[in-house]
Amino acid sequence: MGRISGNTSDIRRINRLLVRDIIREQGPISRSDIAKVAGLTPPTVTNIVSDMLHARIVEEVGYGESTGGRRPVMLVLNPRAGFILAVTIQRGETRVALMDLADNILARRDTQLSVSSPHEIAGTIKESFQSLLSETGVPEEKVLWCGVASPGLVNPDQGLVEKSSNLAWKKVPFAHILSKNLSGIPVHIENISNAAALGEKAYGIGKGYSNLIYLNVSIGIGAGIIIDNNVFRGARGYAGEIGHVPMTVYDGPHCSCGREGCLEAFCGVPAVLRRVKAQVSDEEFRMLGVDKDSIGIPDLTKPPLFNIPAVQRIMDETGHLVGIAISHLVSLFDTEMVILGGELGRVGDPFLETVIRAAKDHSLVEFAETIQVVRSTMHQHPELMGAYVLAMEEVFAIEDWSYREVSK
Ligand SMILES: [Zn+2]
Repeated sequence: MGRISGNTSDIRRINRLLVRDIIREQGPISRSDIAKVAGLTPPTVTNIVSDMLHARIVEEVGYGESTGGRRPVMLVLNPRAGFILAVTIQRGETRVALMDLADNILARRDTQLSVSSPHEIAGTIKESFQSLLSETGVPEEKVLWCGVASPGLVNPDQGLVEKSSNLAWKKVPFAHILSKNLSGIPVHIENISNAAALGEKAYGIGKGYSNLIYLNVSIGIGAGIIIDNNVFRGARGYAGEIGHVPMTVYDGPHCSCGREGCLEAFCGVPAVLRRVKAQVSDEEFRMLGVDKDSIGIPDLTKPPLFNIPAVQRIMDETGHLVGIAISHLVSLFDTEMVILGGELGRVGDPFLETVIRAAKDHSLVEFAETIQVVRSTMHQHPELMGAYVLAMEEVFAIEDWSYREVSK
């Protein structure tokens, strides 16, 4: 434990948190093994476990192997001792999942939106939440925390979205607004790329890696950077804004941030689609039978559009620039892995190969030899699972999980 205090109630609290963490991480586990791991006396553990059994935070699940005497009763965390609401917000969409304490999504609601005001989005999340509660039968007061992944500059300590061009928000205290809509459930908000990096590290291809970067190439471009197992947030939570690093000195395209020539102005999804529409003639679109106004990134990677040389060139240039951005990130942070995520992370292998080649070509040989640039392989959305990871961290840092019932 990092903090030793002489105060008895502090010590009791720390012991309880420790025992709960051990059961969560190592369960099924016996009382005597908990005592050994925690360095506590067996009677202390027995007392703590009795309270937790009474409060239904832990459960007995049969017997373990005997070590000479009676077979020990094994304990696990009750996955339904509390619940988490995991949320992602993006322009045009909210995704809301009700989850238990054992990583399971009980039910999920995705909603397409034409609005993006903070109050309207919070209202949509509230509606999704209510319908998830009735669908699952989970009592509202058992939902302990809500984790939100949001695009833009997000200050988690203040619960603030400082700026998001994706949502057209400025200085929005969204954690507070959403908490009010969810009848007081505490809300933790985090940048979407940071959340995705955490999700990949906990459940995806980044499992077991201490240093990794999740590069989100979607409408916007941002990097979630994990250094020594922790998100590198910078002074206010804004680190990783690689989307607004200039990629040219002269005459770059206009960017959503108000400047010119940023990576996002070349490689963000709207920029790529805009370039295709500008370079493929209306006549060509007509001949291919493709509706110019409804094309998306997946259309660019398969016939008929993929067969057009101009489209291939744009995808090639995009991959090249994304690869250069990766070389910058790897040179700065020396991570073991870069996970390419977002809409452009999901396109076919030729694009990923271009990205990897450019990343290696523009890196020092020492980085190029070892760097792994990979695609997300997660079944669930990494940013949603990252929002869950963050809410779980908050929940396991507090001792008493009955606070929602008390405040009701
Ligand atoms: Zn910019």
